[in-house]
Formats: sequence, structure tokens, C-alpha cells
Amino acid sequence: MRALIISDLHLDPGAPARTQAFLRLLRTDTVSADAFYVLGDLFEAWIGDDDDAPLAREVQTAISEVAARGTACYFMAGNRDFLVGERFAANTGMTILSDPTVHSLGGEDTLLMHGDTLCTGDTDYQIVRQQLHAPAWQAGFLAQPLAARREFARAARAESAAATAGKAEEIMDVAPDEVRRVMAAAGVRRLVHGHTHRPAVHELDQDGSAARRIVLGAWHDQGWRLWLDPDGSERLEAFAL
Ligand code: MN
Repeated sequence: MRALIISDLHLDPGAPARTQAFLRLLRTDTVSADAFYVLGDLFEAWIGDDDDAPLAREVQTAISEVAARGTACYFMAGNRDFLVGERFAANTGMTILSDPTVHSLGGEDTLLMHGDTLCTGDTDYQIVRQQLHAPAWQAGFLAQPLAARREFARAARAESAAATAGKAEEIMDVAPDEVRRVMAAAGVRRLVHGHTHRPAVHELDQDGSAARRIVLGAWHDQGWRLWLDPDGSERLEAFAL
């Protein structure tokens, strides 16, 4: 079983090259993948599955073609697109995964996460996250007209950029203790996540045995993808957008 994993594309109508690169990856790279994973923040913002914007429709159609070809397609929500729901799943043919999820990939149990819940040092963010994940808040938000939701997303992005600019680097990275805790709880020696935009393969010592934390990269100046092969090989690659 060969798996292809990406995250943090932050697709946005204002960055068409990124969308084109994603559509290219769907047409080419996914052909040799048995399983295709998006671990969150596929979209810069997702205001609800009823969004009729061209980007939302184009992306859903393109993913559905990959699923129709027989590649198992999985989506885990990020902190930007946590409102992706059942209709998106039906439109794309993707299976929605809860965060965290363990899948056996290339014969190894692998813990899959978006990564935001690992940043426990960022207490302000964790409080906001709880609010945004409350069912009552989500139902109230989704009941608003699309135009009002678009405006909210625009304002929230500006606020988030301002808040991020004032935070220390280590606060916005994962907390090592939390990484150890979730890996031990899941009983895995491989963790794959995104969110921090710090692509790397970290060698860890997990209770005396060798473990890895593989961090996917954001699609800003270049794209990032991770291949996990049945022979156990792991390739984290950057590519031009
Ligand atoms: Mn994120």
C-alpha cells in the first residue's frame, strides 16, 4: 500500500498557482497512490459545504475524479477548514477522519493529526479552538447567509495573522511532552502531522525505541508531499508550484 499525504495548502482564490499545483498533483501523483490523505488546511477558509464559490466547486470535482479512479481518499480537518462536513465528503468521495486517527500505512501503524492540538503552549489558541468546535457555535454560524460567513472568515484571518505575528516561535510549535503523550497513547512509533509549517523528519526516542515525527510543509513558496511506501521508505519532498 502506497500512501501520499499532504496538508496546509491553504487554497485561496487569491493564489491561483497553488490551486493549479493541487489540481496537477491530483491528476498525476495520486495515480500511483493507493491512499491519498489531506491532513487539514486544504483551504485557507471553509465557510460551509453549501459554499458555491468557483474554487470550492472546482476542487471538489477534481478530488471526486481521483476517488472515482479507485484511490482511497481521506480528509482530516485543520484549524482553517474545520467546517468541512458530510456534503463535502459526498461530493468528493473522501472519507472524513477524526483527529487523531491511526492507520496502518506501508505496514506501520501511523498516527495522523492536523497538528494544532499538539501546540499546547498556545493557550489563547486552544481556548478559541474549543469555542469554534462547539456544536452550538457551528450550527449558529452555518445558519448565517454565505455573504455574512465570508465576511467573518475574512476578519478572522486578519485577526489570526495579527495574533500570530506577536507570538514567540516556540509557542506556535508542538509541545514535545504532548507529542510523547499522544504517541504513547496511540501506541505508535510514527506520527505524521502538518499545521506548524515546519517541514522536517524528527528522530525521537519513544520510551527507549526509535520513533519519528514527520511534519508536512505548507504550500507557500513551494509544495510539499510525503510518500510512504510498502518497503518502509518515507520521502518528504518539496516541489515547485
Ligand atoms: Mn493549521
